[in-house]
Amino acid sequence: MPSSPTWPEVSRNACVVIPVGSFEQHGPHLPLDTDTQVASHLCMLATTGMESVVVTPPLSITASGEHAGFPGTISIGTEAFATVIVELVRSCDWATGVILVHGHGGNFEAVQQATTILNSEQRNIASWWPHIPDADAHAGHTETSLMLAINSNLVRIDKLEVGNMQPMSKIQRDLQTRGVHAVSTNGILGDARSATIQHGIELLAELSDNLHAFILSAQQQWSRA
Ligand SMILES: [Zn+2]
Repeated sequence: MPSSPTWPEVSRNACVVIPVGSFEQHGPHLPLDTDTQVASHLCMLATTGMESVVVTPPLSITASGEHAGFPGTISIGTEAFATVIVELVRSCDWATGVILVHGHGGNFEAVQQATTILNSEQRNIASWWPHIPDADAHAGHTETSLMLAINSNLVRIDKLEVGNMQPMSKIQRDLQTRGVHAVSTNGILGDARSATIQHGIELLAELSDNLHAFILSAQQQWSRA
């Protein structure tokens, strides 16, 4: 983990960047902290050389209720996580604003709840979500490629499997009411076997460029005159 600045080194125009991950099953081949690894790595790539940015340690145990039923998954749930975000952002009033960098889509509801409260308090909060056209949903081609590119030693290459390949629209209802285990016994939504390190490298470059531009634009919007 890169070291953080001292307090006198923090500029009054600083914004705070927080990687937001999860600790949940990612199939038989990816570690539980996959989302945290991805979010942290993207923050590191996107903010290298940037001024007036404070990158915090990641939030690594968040809302993962949909992955209950698999050993290893740990979650604090949507309500508790929304409260965590609200209190964290309130404590950043010395900064111009806070950017949450998301590796886990299951936090969407908590983030919405917290953002509504923080906006009503006139606090600056922005969320960056990775937009990957044609991505599969969980622990498949997309996430496995990303992890191969971040650190291939973390991927159990001999355990790459296919999971539930049905489109999200078909399984969404079961997912929401009964969780991932009801639709995929190995925990994968997609196909990890087709993952490549090259695809992961390309995705990391695209996503970190996009995140870099997102942070710059928030900084411009929030900078103190
Ligand atoms: Zn994930």
